[in-house]
Amino acid sequence: MEKICDLHIHSRYSGGTSNLINVRKLAQNCRLKGIDIVGTGDCFHPLWIREINLHLEEDSDGLLTFPSIPQVKFVLQSEVELLWKQNSTLKKAHFIVLFPNSDKLKDVSEFLASFGNLNKDGRPKLNISPEKFIVNLESFDKMIEVIPAHIFTPFYGILGNNLQFDSLKEALGDGINFVHAVETGLSADPTMIRGILELNNLSIISNSDSHSLNFYRLGREATVLDLNRVTYQEIIKSIRDDRIIKTYEFNPSEGKYYYDGHRSSRHRSNDSYFCSPKRNVIYCPVCGNTLTKGVLSRVYELKDSEIPMKENFQYIIPLLHLISIVNGGSEYDNKNVALYRNIVEATNGEFNIWENNTDFYPIPYELREVINKIKSGNYWFIPGYDGVYGKLQLGQSINHI
Ligand SMILES: [Zn+2]
Ligand SMILES: [Zn+2]
Repeated sequence: MEKICDLHIHSRYSGGTSNLINVRKLAQNCRLKGIDIVGTGDCFHPLWIREINLHLEEDSDGLLTFPSIPQVKFVLQSEVELLWKQNSTLKKAHFIVLFPNSDKLKDVSEFLASFGNLNKDGRPKLNISPEKFIVNLESFDKMIEVIPAHIFTPFYGILGNNLQFDSLKEALGDGINFVHAVETGLSADPTMIRGILELNNLSIISNSDSHSLNFYRLGREATVLDLNRVTYQEIIKSIRDDRIIKTYEFNPSEGKYYYDGHRSSRHRSNDSYFCSPKRNVIYCPVCGNTLTKGVLSRVYELKDSEIPMKENFQYIIPLLHLISIVNGGSEYDNKNVALYRNIVEATNGEFNIWENNTDFYPIPYELREVINKIKSGNYWFIPGYDGVYGKLQLGQSINHI
């Protein structure tokens, strides 16, 4: 059976997140949006895990459920920031961790407490190398899954520009033997990963990395898995065996780190600057400092092969964002959220809009026209750069790169 999964989110205990996030609302919003399996986010944080234990019921297969919303299953999940010295420089990278049950999570939490403060940030900073981290977690339980997060992003992606590793093997050491998948991140898609020979035997997953409950953040990227049964073991096996039916992707140019550039807040003049990596601009024409190199630039550097794509993926744009474009206002306006709720109740989740003909759904004509434009590729983005999202442009796509 096909299950739509979002295996990387955050709780209100991570930096820069909404303080409205709680497990009940997460379950409610995932049900409405059509997400079947969601990460808990931040499962090392004592206050968040207390809330999880209080409100979710753990089954014998390691998945958790909010009792009145049985359609949505939670997986114990956290993102971690690892800090270590390698090649005489300080490296920082993000990884997703998934746990088979709360007993294993408890054991690993006790082990990791000596490498960093788990009470502080929901995404803990841990002074440990990825090799030591991955090899040790594997020794706790072979079903604990560690997945490099948003691998190409400049500051914390393991293959991102700032870390300057030539290969995943160099970065992970023997840890690479226990890594089975990588996460694309919002500024990359599977085609960008498949240009790199070393990554060819790894599965590709996509997740939202959501920092809020909002319908345009949750599930903005997702992975559709083929599961025989809805259990933790099956989720991990289907990732490891590459039984990934498809991923739903941001168009990479919408992501915050696609092009090279400097955002306006870096400059006293408030001017921003961005450019295609093909122009190979190193220094910012506004401030003279080194530009933040984007994901596309990094992929050009690492690309070493032409591997035929075997992945099936589809670009989507959050429906609530499209509603706010058609109706005006923001994704937080009550009238836009109310229309969103009416539509997804009728369509049984947002993803069905991208799979099926929308003519039969109660969707206003103008909005349906916009959805059809997106489906037919009749749109483009002013590309994102240096932490600024790309801006959607409807209409004839142009060769803007
Ligand atoms: Zn991250
Ligand atoms: Zn600058």
